[in-house]
Amino acid sequence: MTKTPCPITGDPAQIRARTADYTEFDCSRCGVFRISDAAMALAGDNPETLAEALAVARSAAGEGETPIIDNVVSG
Ligand SMILES: [Zn+2]
Repeated sequence: MTKTPCPITGDPAQIRARTADYTEFDCSRCGVFRISDAAMALAGDNPETLAEALAVARSAAGEGETPIIDNVVSG
């Protein structure tokens, strides 16, 4: 496992999986979530935008599903 700061909160996190499409993080504060490469490219420098996108992803994910941030509203 690769340790890295959470892109949203900066808390200690681990990269659990990395695919061609997304990276899966396990953050001590946020829990497990996935961010697509496109979303990271758009909002990787904007934690507040990612936090909002994670909240949306959480509400969109079903019970037991991992939230996926695959789109962000920029600007
Ligand atoms: Zn986090």
